Amino acid sequence: MNRTSPPPPQHRRLARPATPGTEQPAERQFTGIPVSAGIAIGPVFGVSEPDAVITPHKIAASDIAAEGARLDAAVAQSRKQLAKLRAKLAILPEESQEELAPLLDAYLHMLGPSRLLRAVRQRIEEALVSAETAVVAESEALVATILARIDPAGTADDRAALQRRADEIKEIERRLVRNLTRSPFRSFAGLPPGAILVSESLRPADAALLDPSRLAGVATEEGGADGHTAVMLRALGVPAVLGAIGLAHAMKPGDVAVVDGISGVVTLNPAPATTAAAKRGVTAFARERQRYARLRRLPAETRDGETVELQANLELPIELPLIVQSGAVGIGLLRTEFLFMNREAVPDEDTQEETYRTIIDAMHGDPVTIRVLDWGGEKEIEALSTAGIVPEVADANPALGLRGIRLLLRQPELFEIQLTAILRASVLGPVRVLLPMVTTVQEVRAAREVYDRVARRLRRRGERLPEKLPPLGIMIETPGAALSADALALEADFFAIGTNDLTAYTLAVDRGEADVAALYDPMHPAVLRLVQFATEAALRLRMPVSVCGELGADPRITPLLLGLGVRSFSMNASAVPRVKQVVRSVEIDDCARLARRVMEQGDPEVIKMLLEGFGRPAE
Ligand code: PEP
Ligand code: MG
Repeated sequence: MNRTSPPPPQHRRLARPATPGTEQPAERQFTGIPVSAGIAIGPVFGVSEPDAVITPHKIAASDIAAEGARLDAAVAQSRKQLAKLRAKLAILPEESQEELAPLLDAYLHMLGPSRLLRAVRQRIEEALVSAETAVVAESEALVATILARIDPAGTADDRAALQRRADEIKEIERRLVRNLTRSPFRSFAGLPPGAILVSESLRPADAALLDPSRLAGVATEEGGADGHTAVMLRALGVPAVLGAIGLAHAMKPGDVAVVDGISGVVTLNPAPATTAAAKRGVTAFARERQRYARLRRLPAETRDGETVELQANLELPIELPLIVQSGAVGIGLLRTEFLFMNREAVPDEDTQEETYRTIIDAMHGDPVTIRVLDWGGEKEIEALSTAGIVPEVADANPALGLRGIRLLLRQPELFEIQLTAILRASVLGPVRVLLPMVTTVQEVRAAREVYDRVARRLRRRGERLPEKLPPLGIMIETPGAALSADALALEADFFAIGTNDLTAYTLAVDRGEADVAALYDPMHPAVLRLVQFATEAALRLRMPVSVCGELGADPRITPLLLGLGVRSFSMNASAVPRVKQVVRSVEIDDCARLARRVMEQGDPEVIKMLLEGFGRPAE
């Protein structure tokens, strides 16, 4: 992956001599953030959102206030989404701005103190129905009234104006219902094979539904370099560009696009020369993959004979064959969120155990580190809100809220079911258990109590468990955890450094947000110092420590991490050969010297220069 600071999103329309008699639209380019390497060429598929199908739902009179509050939250969220879009218009060409600005203003107006919202509120109170039922009923009634006013004998302008008004109301209805029900944002039904999926945004749960064998590429207007959607897309190996502003609004059905997941450029209706260059890029990328494939069976060992553990991260079971092919020795981070996504109910013990067994089995004796559920932040999971385990209305700052271990300790049943399933599956192969979002030693102690209690209960029941319980480790992914790593090292059995959240929390930058993507920099000295501090705390106690965030997948940084003492990495499967190639080309003493120089620097640009210059002969 290209990890230089992403260029600011831009958009340009390329002049092309018009060919008389052809209607081919002009080529247009959009630059976003390259998040998953590879080049794709194909017809665009603008994801349609499912129609708002709401089963009318009655409420009790005592619930009127609560329903009103849900409506308020959905209105506020919708306004925020639209205002964000409105603020981004400035970077589009004037003609696109002129097209979109009045539309967004109209939407925002309707989400103010409008007649529509007053009427919705009245329906909740008088008809005693849920907020979404009221939104759908009121919008449909209003649309019907407007369409009835269309006079076939009237002017085309009058007819168009009424139709526009009806469409605006439908858009508001769709957005409000989506925000009220948090229903899956997207429907992938009808996605033609080989298509490029284009959308305004894509949630991690939506990305989890994509079938990489049918899909050529993905391009969206929102999203950041290391958000969970980006992580998912890399896991699926689908060329992808996020944060390409203006793209979803510019594309039309029938358009063709080139998605360049290396440079971050998306080209709509490519000219023949662009298509030819893209085809050459596809071939070059495939050759590079073949070259890397030859590394699969070679050991991950430095030139001076130091063995390095290279493992894979797993987001979805669909990745298992890729992991096996990549030459990874085991799974260093199994994100279990996928088990809970896109389903109606929370998975029970047996369902979870079966999944863990399949994965442990597929690794044929190589270790599997299973991270317990990391809910929160941008990882929305409907089954948990439906079951009342997490609040319906998100916290004001979800990334700072009830995330990861915090939720699990509040919901012991959820935690115990998952630990039980893991322990029961752990007889099949070497397993480790990993706790997400730890910030205090008390959390580790409390989690270990639950863990031991679950193990004791299983043994009492006569279940066969490994004689020695699987190690219980923690993610180091907040500055607080990194800076108290010496204390945490006394409680945990191993550390897995999560540089994605560590970067986000250290630099106060949302990892999934296109607007601040240029500030999201894992090579910032503050992040590297925290990685160093945590690594040294573990090494002092001879405790295993690995890097499992995306920093570990960047071959430019491998020598630095080796120089800091890291000997275990976990990354998306496709990055394993690239990192292995670097490991095999370096000596530890050189890496240690590089690390000393890098860690003296305060300027990320100098750090990047030093890393890029490493191994190159001095000029
Ligand atoms: C991280 O934060 O670096 C990490 C590996 O966890 P996730 O990306 O799942 O938040
Ligand atoms: Mg994390």
